[in-house]
Amino acid sequence: MHMKGTATSQQPPAQGLKARLDEAEATLRAIYRGEVDALVVHGPEGEQVYTLKGAETPYRLLLEAMNEGALTTSTDGTILYCNTRFAAMARRPMEQIVGSTCRPYFATEDYAAFQKLLKKAGAEGAKGEFVFKAVDGSSLPVEVSARGFELDGMEGFSILVSDVTELKRSSAKLQEVVGELEHFSYTITHDMRAPLRAMKGFGELLQRHYQDRVDGEGLDFIRRIIESAGRMDNLITDALNYTRVLRQQMDLKPVNAAGVLRSIVESYPQFQPPRAEVRIENDFPLVLANEAGMTQCFSNILGNAVKFVEPNKLPRVHVWAETRDHAVRFWFEDNGIGIPKRYHDLIFVMFQRLSKGYEGTGIGLALVRKTVERMKGKVGVESEVGQGSRFWIELQRCD
Ligand code: ADP
Repeated sequence: MHMKGTATSQQPPAQGLKARLDEAEATLRAIYRGEVDALVVHGPEGEQVYTLKGAETPYRLLLEAMNEGALTTSTDGTILYCNTRFAAMARRPMEQIVGSTCRPYFATEDYAAFQKLLKKAGAEGAKGEFVFKAVDGSSLPVEVSARGFELDGMEGFSILVSDVTELKRSSAKLQEVVGELEHFSYTITHDMRAPLRAMKGFGELLQRHYQDRVDGEGLDFIRRIIESAGRMDNLITDALNYTRVLRQQMDLKPVNAAGVLRSIVESYPQFQPPRAEVRIENDFPLVLANEAGMTQCFSNILGNAVKFVEPNKLPRVHVWAETRDHAVRFWFEDNGIGIPKRYHDLIFVMFQRLSKGYEGTGIGLALVRKTVERMKGKVGVESEVGQGSRFWIELQRCD
């Protein structure tokens, strides 16, 4: 085994320092050439030997070619190795980095977070985002991934530092483009409404005032124009609601779901006898939600539950809550037509409709899913054709 020792401190300070620096430089060069297998570091607790096995040379060369900064540190944070890329990021010669700590490359609060990351890294590894400070005062957004290791009785960390400037820039640009597109689609849908309402209004006037001057076929055409305009209006309303959910800030706070459900049922005759029977259980724990978002989701699910029922059958819906760990699952059971298993996921996708004989836009469940996700929840369904459906919405429980 080829060993290299770092200079001891028994010489005059300046000379000793110079000798140590020269020695360190020579050692590093030897390490990079793969000539040295072990490194002796003199510390306050005596000499420590760090072995660099010859077989690792190809890996060391690989590390040198990488676009990520790479470090090996001891458990006390001393840097034992860094690659050329790390030195370039730090804007500091390698020989000044090896033997020092990571402290200079982080702001105070970031350094505390970095140490926390190392603590939890272990053999599984851990990742975090930080601002990396070079010694010339410039800074970079970085992702640090650390992994603990144990080799021949020595413990330490392997650390990779990736510059994420480009990634951040592209994601900010993407965010901007998405924002512009959302704004565009919102404006265009909003502006489509006025001419559409005019078409519908004039159609209705035609129907009312020109009934006796138009034959049966003409009246049928007018009726279809009015109905189509109505359908388009619903489509625009739903699309607007969808873009609103994407754009709006969604603050979450404790919400009493039973209150929300009861006020929905009381506000719409289609959920009340004689048109339907909606039974809501009493005991609902508080959940973390946005009240407007919850109202939107519950009304859509209830609306579907009373809509997709065979003609002449009284829609019956049963709503209850089930507590699961840190979440509450709200169940909506109906006596409707049911949904084939293979469509259970598809119905949550925009414009996917199975039941053509029923009015609708195919946006409702996509809107529910998006809103629920923004409330950090989940949605799903259990159903079989002809057996009714059980939709569920899961939200975080307030403890
Ligand atoms: P819409 O109700 O406007 O058609 P949705 O996105 O709300 O659109 O629903 C998508 C499709 O899922 C519906 O067209 C219907 O085929 C099916 N569906 C939703 N809810 C139910 C239900 N309770 N029972 C049976 N089918 C349902």
